[in-house]
Amino acid sequence: MTKDPANLDQVSVTALKGVGGKLAEKLGKLGINTLQDLLFHLPLRYLDRTRVTPIGALQPNVNAVIEGEIRAVDVVYGRRRSLVCRLQDGSGTTTLRFYHFSGAQKQRLTPGTRLRCFGESRRGASGLEFYHPEYEFLDGAEAVALDDRLTPVYPATEGLTQQRIRALASQALTFLDRHPLTELLPEDLRRELDQVPLADALRYLHAPPRRADVARLMDGTHPYQQRLAFEELLAHHLSLLVLRQQTQAEGAPSLAPDPALHKQFLSQLPFQLTGAQQRVSREIAEDLVKPIPMLRLVQGDVGSGKTLVAALAALTAVASGYQAAIMAPTEILAEQHRNNFGAWLEPLGIELGWLTGRLTAARRREQLARLASGEARVVVGTHALFQEEVEFANLGLVIIDEQHRFGVHQRLELRQKGSRTGLRPHQLIMTATPIPRTLAMSAYADLDTSVIDELPPGRTPVTTVVISEQRRPEVIERVSRACEQGRQAYWVCTLIEESETLAAQAAEATAENLAAALPHLRVGLVHGRLKAKEKEAVMAAFKAAELDLLVATTVIEVGVDVPNASLMIIENPERLGLAQLHQLRGRVGRGSEASHCVLLYGSPLSRQSRERLAVMRDSSDGFVIAERDLELRGPGEVLGTRQTGEMQFRIADLQRDADLLPRVQAGAQQLLGRHPALCNAIMERWLGDNRRYFQV
Ligand code: ADP
Ligand code: MG
Repeated sequence: MTKDPANLDQVSVTALKGVGGKLAEKLGKLGINTLQDLLFHLPLRYLDRTRVTPIGALQPNVNAVIEGEIRAVDVVYGRRRSLVCRLQDGSGTTTLRFYHFSGAQKQRLTPGTRLRCFGESRRGASGLEFYHPEYEFLDGAEAVALDDRLTPVYPATEGLTQQRIRALASQALTFLDRHPLTELLPEDLRRELDQVPLADALRYLHAPPRRADVARLMDGTHPYQQRLAFEELLAHHLSLLVLRQQTQAEGAPSLAPDPALHKQFLSQLPFQLTGAQQRVSREIAEDLVKPIPMLRLVQGDVGSGKTLVAALAALTAVASGYQAAIMAPTEILAEQHRNNFGAWLEPLGIELGWLTGRLTAARRREQLARLASGEARVVVGTHALFQEEVEFANLGLVIIDEQHRFGVHQRLELRQKGSRTGLRPHQLIMTATPIPRTLAMSAYADLDTSVIDELPPGRTPVTTVVISEQRRPEVIERVSRACEQGRQAYWVCTLIEESETLAAQAAEATAENLAAALPHLRVGLVHGRLKAKEKEAVMAAFKAAELDLLVATTVIEVGVDVPNASLMIIENPERLGLAQLHQLRGRVGRGSEASHCVLLYGSPLSRQSRERLAVMRDSSDGFVIAERDLELRGPGEVLGTRQTGEMQFRIADLQRDADLLPRVQAGAQQLLGRHPALCNAIMERWLGDNRRYFQV
């Protein structure tokens, strides 16, 4: 042994006996390159081979060790030839069945032979049977000892058997005695958090003792698993806090409102700000005036009036001589913002810029020039706003709407778009979908949060009903009645695949059918495959009440605002997440008329779908719905695909480990203050290459 043994994160798996290039490559596919990786590759579950189960006490579908004497052996010619052994102990008899067997095997499995078998009991033709159990002979003089540890079952990959991974893991554990796996949680924190040393946790988890709490190990809630999950969550949390520190170490322009302009803006609105809008606007104003970049997340339910809060912030930037940029995730939403911001700001003499991926080359050049010269004070657009060649004269504020569709990486790109003076823009991030607290805590640890927890007055709650597709004619009749009474309706078509082409085709067919069934109504169609101009024209016609019924794909999910529309039909709502349904439903209930939403499901409905639709029927509170969505579908789905990739954990599970999060948060703060070097090591250990994203 060398004097100064390398850390296990520096030791390649090839240091293990029997691991050459080929095997190393296979392990690499599982993300295992070093011995540390191997030790962090935790078992998915465990088998208990420490006890013998009497045959008479066997339950179906469990893994068990049994011992007995072979009473009969036959080759049975059924549909497939099989070797069948009857095995008996004092308590009962069971069948071992082998479809593949060698002559030698058959010769040794003779009546009178004693066997110990391990396998899963299944219901078969002759009662409980074991198919291809592992077995050993008990005929030798000495008793064969049973395992004294639980047997781990690892996530595997092709060409890598469990036996192989088990052997490698136990070899790696022996390294743990000789090489350090640096303990990164300082002892005071560990004691405070009641955490065991890392090496102890790993030794235990790869080979739990016979008496281990198997139920908790299987759930992933064993304290030793939690020890690892904690450190991993801590690493993610730290990386976001570090990101925040780095951002805030830079300067930002101090932005203050112009009271006269502010007043003028408010006086032209046909309504008063709600109390919540005022409070959140104040919180934003307090950030904007500071010379460090604001990092604030505004959460508010659908229709709570986030756009206005954003416009006020933009106005403050403009009043201080800076530009503001508003980024939306879709063309339709960007258009909606352009209309709103235009109506609010242009009367004040503030020029708007407009940038999306769909501009012609000439218009794009023109808009780019207006951004670069500073002529456009407030710029609305899509992702296109943040392409490399887009330059701003002096960008002071970035507003991102519907944040959950953007990931941390994109947030980072935005941070790069400073003004030419070297100052960073302030950032305001708005989510249309409330985010459950636990998720917000981990996915947005770098942001301060404001909540608009009040809807503008005069809204009538949307009544939601859940109806089977078989009652479609009644629903069509209902649309007819509503439209005859001068109201407007949406008919939303959904698809399982995220293919806008297929969705568009489905919507086209539905629109044709509905137009045929409702000849007295004016039916419009909008989907993502239409040209921007066509889409705009249809939306404008619907808004102007020149259309009665608008058939749409989920492109209308966000931003569309037509107060006279009071009925929404959503086809196959079971295909959508709750958050998305909530968004869609938020398109109605915007006027003074009582509004209705019909969830027209395709039967039969799974139990989970039934539960989810019931949540929609029973609640109109976005926060409640988001919590239920998290319970039912898990964090990946709730946060959206972009974030899912970033929120993938090796060991932790945001939902299962949610109750660790407050301690993770507190621990991260402590570490950052007292042990900056450890922070780096923890991030390095758990995020490795991904850390690059965080090194701004
Ligand atoms: P969201 O929070 O979903 O983005 P919007 O900003 O689109 O909500 O606002 C929804 C609707 O409510 C818009 O028509 C907007 O003009 C209107 N609105 C916003 N604030 C108020 C208010 N204080 N009083 C009345 N209506 C308001
Ligand atoms: Mg909005």
